[in-house]
Amino acid sequence: MSATKLDNYSVNNLRIPVDYLPSQDGISQSLLGDWQTCRRRFLFSINRWSHPAKERKTGYGSMNHELLDIIYSGFFFGDYKYRDLTAVIRFFLDRYQLPRVFSPQEQEQLKALSQAIMECYIEYYRADFTEFRLKAVEHIFEVKKYGWILRGKIDGCLADKTGAGWNLEHKNYSRINEESLQKRLSFDLQNLFYLNAHFIETGIQLKGVKYNILRKPEVKKFDRPIEMYSYVRGLISNNPDYYFIRYEIPYTKIDLKRFQDELAFKLNDLYECIKRAVIDKQNTLNIFYKNECACDQPYQCDFIDACASGKLNVYCRQKHLFMELGASDERPGIAHIKESIGTGTTTKSIVDASIKKARKLPAIPKKK
Ligand code: SF4
Repeated sequence: MSATKLDNYSVNNLRIPVDYLPSQDGISQSLLGDWQTCRRRFLFSINRWSHPAKERKTGYGSMNHELLDIIYSGFFFGDYKYRDLTAVIRFFLDRYQLPRVFSPQEQEQLKALSQAIMECYIEYYRADFTEFRLKAVEHIFEVKKYGWILRGKIDGCLADKTGAGWNLEHKNYSRINEESLQKRLSFDLQNLFYLNAHFIETGIQLKGVKYNILRKPEVKKFDRPIEMYSYVRGLISNNPDYYFIRYEIPYTKIDLKRFQDELAFKLNDLYECIKRAVIDKQNTLNIFYKNECACDQPYQCDFIDACASGKLNVYCRQKHLFMELGASDERPGIAHIKESIGTGTTTKSIVDASIKKARKLPAIPKKK
């Protein structure tokens, strides 16, 4: 490896990317969360560094999230009816590409687990696909405020029976502490960041967020995926309220105002740090210092190897700063599905094509 390439892998050489502009590239709640947690973590993230092991942590959740996107989008766009959903789930799981960090056996097990959960989910929330009044799905926003572009993707927006609007946010969790989660959600960064974006875009304050949790059962490995599928279906069917939780978190005008004031303050702080590093040419690593108190709170930070060794050799660089906001043809896992189907550019087109094929798929045998 040449000296220049080695330099690129040294933490000492980290800088704010020369082409990054708050007013054009902007910030997502995830990147802002990095900044709030640890300035050094923000510096890694804004340089698009990522640990390959991250895929192992997020692979299952991303797959389920894409599935939820597909079934709600297809329903929203009128591509299929409730009776089609099981076939859609099976079609997508059959083709979804989990990251290669999972062995073929692990992939089969995770897909069997997901299939069982998602089939139980659509039974449990049948009303979502018969009564819910969805107003938007997978809405990507890009709004100007405080001299920044605020970016994000809202899983869904719906009206309740009174006509009040709510954001819908899907979460796949393994372990949750319901008591602390409910309290934290009353001032949650992501929920309020998205409500604020909706308010900036439309001038309307939504009533709150329906926080939709799918709990991942902790199960042992099975020899065959069908055994996993049958076991998890039985497990969830016996206690669906435990595995599917949907909190309604209302936010008042005062809650939103407080959030807006704090957000302006935070973004101003961040802007000043970027300015000191880029324009005033002060020491970037000092400005974006490490927060040693956050390295394993609550989980081990992805950048702990880099902070411990000063090297980034085991890390890789993402193609885009905001990969999660990319078009479906750039999102790992589903990009190839569109290619293989060869249709248009939206999720809807994937769904259109998928349901036609899904109807022809053989069903996985039901639990005896
Ligand atoms: S390991 Fe600790 S200091 Fe380093 S980026 Fe992560 S949280 Fe910050």
